[in-house]
Amino acid sequence: MSVKREITVVGGGTAGLIAATTLLRLCPDTNVTVIRSTELGHIMVGEGTFAGTPDYLHDVMGIPLDDFYAKVNPIWKLGVRLKWGPRPYFDYPFNEQFDNQILPSKDKPWGYYHLDEYESASLPAGATRTPPAKRFGYHIENQPFVAYLEQHFARLGGKLVDAKVASVEVGEIGVESLVLESGDRHTADFFVDASGFRAELINKGLGEPFVSMRDHLFCDRAVVGGWARGDEEIRPYTSMDTMDAGWCWRIDHEHTINRGYVHSSAYISVDEAADELARKNPKIDRDSLRVVPFEARHVRHPWVKNVVAIGNACGFVEPLEATNIQVICAHSRQLAEAINAGGLGNSDLAQDYNESVQLQWEDIRDFLALHYRFNTRLNTPFWQMAVRNTPLGGLEEYVKLYQENGPVLFTGSAGKPGSMFGYDGHLNLLLGLQVPWKDGSVR
Ligand SMILES: Cc1cc2nc3c(=O)[nH]c(=O)nc-3n(C[C@H](O)[C@H](O)[C@H](O)COP(=O)(O)OP(=O)(O)OC[C@H]3O[C@@H](n4cnc5c(N)ncnc54)[C@H](O)[C@@H]3O)c2cc1C
Repeated sequence: MSVKREITVVGGGTAGLIAATTLLRLCPDTNVTVIRSTELGHIMVGEGTFAGTPDYLHDVMGIPLDDFYAKVNPIWKLGVRLKWGPRPYFDYPFNEQFDNQILPSKDKPWGYYHLDEYESASLPAGATRTPPAKRFGYHIENQPFVAYLEQHFARLGGKLVDAKVASVEVGEIGVESLVLESGDRHTADFFVDASGFRAELINKGLGEPFVSMRDHLFCDRAVVGGWARGDEEIRPYTSMDTMDAGWCWRIDHEHTINRGYVHSSAYISVDEAADELARKNPKIDRDSLRVVPFEARHVRHPWVKNVVAIGNACGFVEPLEATNIQVICAHSRQLAEAINAGGLGNSDLAQDYNESVQLQWEDIRDFLALHYRFNTRLNTPFWQMAVRNTPLGGLEEYVKLYQENGPVLFTGSAGKPGSMFGYDGHLNLLLGLQVPWKDGSVR
């Protein structure tokens, strides 16, 4: 009888449960245990997904559609509406804009009006069932989502342990055992650190440092709240509004509307941010607002010896394009594939994994930075600083090409292989923000 490999995931938030379920489904002969502390809880934000996440949930993780619709009640998300730049707003729909390789006509640029065409999507996904667009994501309430992921993992045969990891014993192989608060020791062949910002194994245990992305992305806190939906129509997209010292999301669920003001603590206090959010959203109960601090960063090497960090333990960027859950899916699948290719003791595969994860963080960092660098909507001290100081990173050449030649479809530099956004996303953003080219032309 073959002995099954034991993988332990520390953390039962979105990251831990997606990673654990993926490993259970894709890696044969593997037992997967999730250790999470219900006392510590999970972060309780992360309600908009990127395109592709629904397919991952249902196809890769095997989540049945009907059951999911009945218990989690997701809303279609067809893209993002940005109140950024000089236009009243512009849309960044998930559906490709340039699939016919046609540049926008003079009288009807694409994208900006696009999401207006999807009135039929203003119903919960379970009510319409057929996706209204080729590429779509979900708005999902965090609590029922995480509860559902937990049930699904258990239903597939995963083991859940409610315990707090008090310390980590480290040796030649990496993590040798987890010491639980009860005093018990827990061992495994391999560990996934999905302990969120606490990064218990990768950073506190193994000492792997974080690389800050603060010099590209200046926001470090969110004030989060919402209200019960009245007769307002459900919006099948996430709205992103420019604010005095950052921006504010609006995510629609069937019964609630959630808003979060992502801002820079160097430019606005918590009280001032809460005041601005409440002033611009009079239905918000100001007393119920929650503060969530964060830092844009990624761990230098997510895979070290017998530990891989996933989710916020691996890295974090603000949810401007709601990329993090999709990144968790991508990392989980990549990890499963590496393990199946013999990666548990294979340092070449680990190095390859680490390099690809780093490129992914840089891709997202640069795409988000593009939003800040060219947003001329407000002239507050924060936005003056952001427009002046946001580096373009790996997009320097691409933006130069655009500024010299106007929109072109053939450039490969922004549609790098593996970019989450491709040239569709980059071009959409530059045109949406009306970044001028040549003699000041815009479209
Ligand atoms: C303001 C904000 C808004 C966001 N919005 C979006 C969005 O719209 N879309 C998106 O894709 N992403 C979004 N994100 C990111 C998203 O929330 C996370 O990527 C996602 O929730 C994954 O979190 P996690 O599982 O890594 O961490 P957590 O949810 O924090 O889970 C950590 C887990 O580890 C456990 N744990 C920690 N320490 C220990 C210990 N010592 N012992 C035992 N257990 C332990 C905790 O109990 C918990 O179960 C947002 C993040 C923030 C901050």
